[in-house]
Amino acid sequence: MRLGTGWRGGLPILAMVLVVVLLGILLWLLQRNEVEDRSQSLIQDVLWVEQDLHFHITTNAESLTRLADRLGREGLNSDLFYAETRTLTASSPDLRRIVLRDSGEKVLRTAPPADPLPETEIAPDWHTGFILARSLGQPVYGAPFWLGGESGIAFDVYVPVFRQGQFVGMLVATVSLNELLSQQVPWWFAQKYRLEIVDGDGMVLATKSQVEVAEPGLSHQVRFEPPGKGLSIVVTAYRRENDLVRNLLSAAIFGLALTAILSLWALRRHMRRRLEAEQALRAEHAFRKAMEESLTIGMRARDLDGRVTYVNSAFCRMVGWEATDLIGSVPPMVYWAPEEAENCYSMFRAVLRGDAPPEGFELILCRKSGERFKALVYEAPLIDSEGQHSGWMASILDITERERAEDLSRQQQEKLQRTARLITMGEMASTLAHELNQPLSAIASYAAGCLNRLDAGNVRAEELEAPLTKLGAQAQRAGQIIRRIHDFVRKSKPSVAPCAINRVIEGAIGFVEADARKHGIRMTVTPDPTEPWTDADHILIEQVVLNLARNAIEAMCATPWFHREIDISIRTAEGQSVVRVADRGTGITPEMADGLFTPFFSTKEEGMGMGLNICRSIVEWHRGRLWYEPNPGGGSVFLFTLPAKE
Ligand code: ADP
Repeated sequence: MRLGTGWRGGLPILAMVLVVVLLGILLWLLQRNEVEDRSQSLIQDVLWVEQDLHFHITTNAESLTRLADRLGREGLNSDLFYAETRTLTASSPDLRRIVLRDSGEKVLRTAPPADPLPETEIAPDWHTGFILARSLGQPVYGAPFWLGGESGIAFDVYVPVFRQGQFVGMLVATVSLNELLSQQVPWWFAQKYRLEIVDGDGMVLATKSQVEVAEPGLSHQVRFEPPGKGLSIVVTAYRRENDLVRNLLSAAIFGLALTAILSLWALRRHMRRRLEAEQALRAEHAFRKAMEESLTIGMRARDLDGRVTYVNSAFCRMVGWEATDLIGSVPPMVYWAPEEAENCYSMFRAVLRGDAPPEGFELILCRKSGERFKALVYEAPLIDSEGQHSGWMASILDITERERAEDLSRQQQEKLQRTARLITMGEMASTLAHELNQPLSAIASYAAGCLNRLDAGNVRAEELEAPLTKLGAQAQRAGQIIRRIHDFVRKSKPSVAPCAINRVIEGAIGFVEADARKHGIRMTVTPDPTEPWTDADHILIEQVVLNLARNAIEAMCATPWFHREIDISIRTAEGQSVVRVADRGTGITPEMADGLFTPFFSTKEEGMGMGLNICRSIVEWHRGRLWYEPNPGGGSVFLFTLPAKE
């Protein structure tokens, strides 16, 4: 699955990379096409300008040849020279000067007039050109030379003048390259290209450029003929502005594409991490859910106002309501038994106050079916992720079954004990009957014999002595039998030993604590700080405390839960340790108080009414005293003393 997500997640990036590649190819093709187009048009333009210059120079040369012909015919000194040259220089400003020399190389005329002709305006190799033109009999072009000023570099055109086949003179026209370019190269050409005339060494002799500083792009070179002499025309295309715009645009597109790829990549990474986090969260959630489902303890969360915010399924099962019915509900809750509502309310308020007993408490709750059940509830504060107290979390245990089982086992135990006691009593009774049968029958027969004698009337007192003595002996024997059986039932005498009163009382409480907790009763013990000792049978004293504590527990069955408490304390004064067992039970009415310690006094259905009587016997046997006092706040207090050991 991870693999599938992986390659599918990579698709957008792949597509984006492809887009970038295709875009690059497209731009490259466009660029190549454009470069080809531009180089084509450059070549065409170069050829055109070369043709134009060629045409202009040869046209001028032809005009000069025609002038040379006429001068040959009409004589070198005719005014024709000035008239014609004026027209020529006016139409071709590149013709800076036209000089007419005679066959002896002497300057005859100059246009425009200059006398003498400045040395700088004479080409250094003019003589070579002169001789060449004379010998060839046709126009010849000279090498470029520095003319000076605005004219810059120039070259000469030598046109021989013949009269009837006889060389008579030479027309020498000086053409300025700068002027030639500025006149002949149109503005549109100069805007597109930089045009230069270079010599064989690559030295620039003249140039035409609209833009001073320009980055050269495409370039093409053709021979500049005439005048030849190794000169060339170099035309360089300017990098056009839209090039820059296009490049910027391409860069922007590539930049954006790259950003998109990076964003996609980052997004993918983010998604992957998120997916991983989600999977981990899902696993965690499933684990928690499984844990929650497997719980048998009901969980219920409430906010600070007591509104239910969460219930687990165990709690729902326990009360028989759906989570949706319970979440958001406020007291009185649907699972409160109406008869227990007051108890539940006071408990609820105590929880919100933070006064819930940490050892838990019991409540009678009601299932949806109406069935009541006993719940053991533990409340704890709910702390959120920011450390704030946000409510209360309760764990609720259905203890009905457990209690029922415990009750059942206790009842069975009690029944067993009672049966054992009955058996013992039965055995004792039959033994007694059996043992007493003999002496009692003997007594009866002696008594009958004596009575018979008395009825006969002739009895003497001495005669009655023997049977009556025997009768007395039998009666004594019966008494002995009863004593022996009594001793047998008592089995043994108490075993007295020094013991710490605090320990004995704490030991006894250990036996009833579980029972008290079950009834929601708090037990507090305040031991005597002086740690008194006494001589006693600790098992019997434990029996006394146990009995008093059990009576207290049974007396508090109807007491509201928050009042249920047993307070046991030990204090020693004047050689007497006083053990005090106080409860908040039903208390004892003055009528009851009289019969409290008499045997078989009980207000309980199954009570024997022997407990307090035996307790008093045990305490008195230990030279102590047991009595009762009413508890000022309600309930009763039983106190007994034990002589404290020095
Ligand atoms: P039993 O517990 O078998 O009834 P006891 O001699 O222990 O016999 O108690 C006698 C009677 O005294 C009880 O039935 C009860 O009515 C009363 N009694 C004993 N202890 C208390 C007590 N702490 N509070 C109220 N009544 C009590």
